[in-house]
Amino acid sequence: MHQPSYCGFCGGGLEHHTIGPDICADCGRPTYADPKVAAACIITIEGALLLVKRAIEPQIGKWSFPSGYVNRGEEVEAAAIREVAEETHLDARINWLVGVYSRKGHPVVLTVYDATAIGGEMVAGEETTDIGLFPLDSLPDLAFEHDEGVLRDWRAERRRRGLVTL
Ligand SMILES: [Zn+2]
Repeated sequence: MHQPSYCGFCGGGLEHHTIGPDICADCGRPTYADPKVAAACIITIEGALLLVKRAIEPQIGKWSFPSGYVNRGEEVEAAAIREVAEETHLDARINWLVGVYSRKGHPVVLTVYDATAIGGEMVAGEETTDIGLFPLDSLPDLAFEHDEGVLRDWRAERRRRGLVTL
C-alpha cells in the first residue's frame, strides 16, 4: 500500500508508525496515512457460495469474496455492489451487514455484506481469473485472514435469522 515517504511540509524523511501518523524526522509534523476501506459481498446462488479467483495482488490466484476498495465519496454499499459487478458481471442487492473487520497494525478496514444476485450474467471481470460456486461444506482455501471469521459470523447470523440450519 502506498504511503508517502517524505514530509509534505519540509521534505524531511518520515518515521513510520504502525498506528497513528508518521512523524517527520526533521520538523516533527505528523503525516496521516488514512485507513483503506474495503467492501465485500457474500452471495449464494442455489445454496453455493460465489467466490472469485484473484488475478491481482494481494493474494493472486487465491479465492475470495467479490470485494474491493471503496472510493472517496462513494457509499460503502454502492462500492460493494460495484465490485460484484466488476468482478462477476452480476447485479447485486445488499441484504444486511455481516460485520466490519479490522486488525491492529493493518491499514484495511473490511466491511462485509450479505447480498443477493438479482441479474446479470456470471462472467469473470478483469481483476478475476475465474468465478466459482462452492458448496458451503467444501470451500477452497480463502485468500484473506479475516475470511474464516467472516464466514463464521455470516453462518451464525443466517441461523439467527432462520434462513438456514447449516
Ligand atoms: Zn517535516
